[in-house]
This record gives sequence, structure tokens and C-alpha cells, in this order.
Amino acid sequence: MSFSYGRAIRAIPGPSMIPDRVLNAMHQAAPNIYEGELVELTGTVRSDLRRVARTEGAVAIYIGNGHAMWEASLANMARPGERILVLLTGRFGRGWAETARRLGIEVETIDFGFRGAVEPGRIEDHLRADADRRIRAVLTTQTDTASSALTDIRAVRAAIDAAGHPALLAVDCVASLAADRFEMDAWGVDVMISACQKGLMTPPGLGFTFQSDKAMAEGVPCPSPYWDWRPRSKPGLFYELFHGTAPTHHLFGLREALDMILLEEGLGNVWARHAVFARAVAAAVEAWGRAGALELNIPAAPARSYAVTTIRTGPGEAGRIRAWCEEIAGVTLGIGLETPGVDPSSMFRIAHMGHLNPPTLLGTLATVETALDALGIAHGPGAVEAASRVIAAADRERARGGAESVERRIAIG
Ligand SMILES: *Cc1c(COP(=O)(O)O)cnc(C)c1O
Repeated sequence: MSFSYGRAIRAIPGPSMIPDRVLNAMHQAAPNIYEGELVELTGTVRSDLRRVARTEGAVAIYIGNGHAMWEASLANMARPGERILVLLTGRFGRGWAETARRLGIEVETIDFGFRGAVEPGRIEDHLRADADRRIRAVLTTQTDTASSALTDIRAVRAAIDAAGHPALLAVDCVASLAADRFEMDAWGVDVMISACQKGLMTPPGLGFTFQSDKAMAEGVPCPSPYWDWRPRSKPGLFYELFHGTAPTHHLFGLREALDMILLEEGLGNVWARHAVFARAVAAAVEAWGRAGALELNIPAAPARSYAVTTIRTGPGEAGRIRAWCEEIAGVTLGIGLETPGVDPSSMFRIAHMGHLNPPTLLGTLATVETALDALGIAHGPGAVEAASRVIAAADRERARGGAESVERRIAIG
């Protein structure tokens, strides 16, 4: 018997839960792609994407996913034979590095392991050792979605500056945009890439690159007409924005999602909500971990993502937990991704990005706990209570004016 006959919950890091409003906005006849509403709507989507990225720089929209944006950004930043440095905190930095190698770019890496943050001192030393300044760009993820490590982007910028190195700073925010706080201009980021199916709550299909004036000026001539970010960011004609037919219905859906983020909730509140939910998940996992094998992959709180949490289990337990949640309860958890020294069936992930409220989050945690009980997997008590206490405490702080002061500190323009 299965209990899964209700609305399914996808707690996976992309596609995240898609609001019905976004789906409904997409449900319409094909528009005129030469003039009128779509052209105007595309203009507002472009300017609002820059608001979410917190940049006055340029944006290019592609029909593509996050992998496509790895390639798009690289094709504009470095030629074959030129050199980049990639910081690794999990699987996704490796993916960007592998893409670069396939494009013939020389790739250096610094591996910070799978369980924590980058060490700025090592970045600075590495760049100082590049005496003839051959490294064109330093690439990093903000959230690595496999390990759930959060990179302190300001610390990376400071390390590059401390070395006096002219390299561009490029950041993968596919998982973290509209979840973890990100300030492209204030933090000195030259290139940012993202996609629409995680924090932006839209079905997979759109990818974005954002580029500073420095990146536009110091980037390389792009050999691919499709990936070239110049015509897409400084268009003459509408079709140049997409190098062909516009992704019409994705633009309708994304317009709705951007309204939800910017007009209704407010970006500062979006970040604050994700911070609370991430702390709630961590509190639950810590409670489970008081007996048995479950533990957070990232032990240090400041290095934990607000978008996703990676959880370690005893051998094979994660696979059984995921299967139970999917088949018996209708909750899809994220799989463990290839990790050096860890069996992927001993790891699962809970995504907490995008269209998410306490009943969805607490329901997911309660369902995981039910799976642990049903499967006889040892765990400590009180996980759901611990998570709900985090949310209640955040609400009491909001009532005392705390959230407002957070909002002021964030100072959203
Ligand atoms: C999801 C993700 C990607 C890949 O995106 P796809 O759309 O699956 O190609 C890249 N980087 C990060 C950090 C991600 O979370």
C-alpha cells in the first residue's frame, strides 16, 4: 500500500516546485514575436533579472540549462590554450572545469574537498605564484549543489585583490540565485551564470549570464555565434537577444516568477526565508544525528547553503530512505552525487529553494522521519520539533522588528 495519493512534493535541487501561477502564465496561444507585448515583457524580464542579480551590468538570456551556461561563459572568457583557475568545493565546480578542458582551455584547480568552505589564503598564494599573470579568470560556485557547501564570494574577491591579480571573478549561481544572498556589483563579481529552474521557479529551459563592464571589455572574441554574449546583451534587433526565435512561453512563466520574487515577497525577504528554512533543516538533521549515522555533510554552519542540504547516512540507508519517500509518501528527495570516498547510496539531499513554505518543508522533514521509523533506521528524536522551533523563533524575531532590520541591512534597491 502507498500513501502517496495527494500533491507530490519535489524536494530536489532542480526543477524546484513550480508555482501553479507560473504554469498558468505559460498556458496561452503563441504570441507575436515581432512587436507588441512579448517585446515589452522581454525588456522587463531583462531588467528584473539584473535586479535579482544585484547588478547594473549586462545580462544575456539563452535557451539552455546550467551546463549550457558553463559553456557560454567560458566561450566568452578564455580561448583554447589560455588558462583559468577553478575552485572546487564539490561536484559542480568539477563540471565547469571539465567543460573548460573539453573546450581546450588550460585548467588549474584548487580542491577544498567536499565538506566545507574555500580557504582564501590558498587562493591568494596560488594567484601570487602566477607571476606572468596568465590566469584569465577565477571560477567558483556559490552553492555547490552536490556537497551543499556555500562559498563566501567576498572572501574570494578579497583573495584575488590581495594578490593584486587582474583575473576576472566568475560565479556559478545556478542553485543559489534567489536563495542565498548574492550581490554581484557590491561583491566585485565580473561574471555570474544561472538558470531558471531552481530559485527562479520556472520549468527548465532558460539560462543566463551576467557580465560586468570589465568582463565585456576583457572577455575574448567568442568563436560561437550562438554563445556570443555581446549581441544578446546589447541588442539591435529583438531576435538578436535570442539568436533566433524567442523562448516565448518560458518568458511568460519567468515574468510571473519575477513578480512573485520582486514585487510581492521582496528579494530581501526571499533570502531571509531561505536562511530560516536552511537552519530548520540543519536543526532537524542534527536531532536525527543524536543517535545513528545521519549527519550534515557540511559541519560548519557558515559554510552551509541556503538552497540545499546534503545529508550523510549509514551504508545504503540514503537509497532506502529516498525509495520509501518516493514510493510510499510522494516526496522526491535529491540523490547523492558522485563524491570522492563516499558511496552515493549513503547520501541524499533535501532542496529548500524557491516555492516553499513551512507546511511543505516541515512535511518533507516529517516524511523523512516517518521513513526512518518505517525502515527501522536509528535516529535521534525531536527533528520536526527542532525545525519548527527554528521557524517560530525567526517569526518572534520578525515580530520584534528583527526581520525588518535584516531587511534594512540588506538594503534592497
Ligand atoms: C543545477 C546546477 C548546474 C547545472 O544545471 P543544469 O540546468 O542541470 O544543466 C550547474 N551548477 C550548479 C551549481 C547547479 O546547481
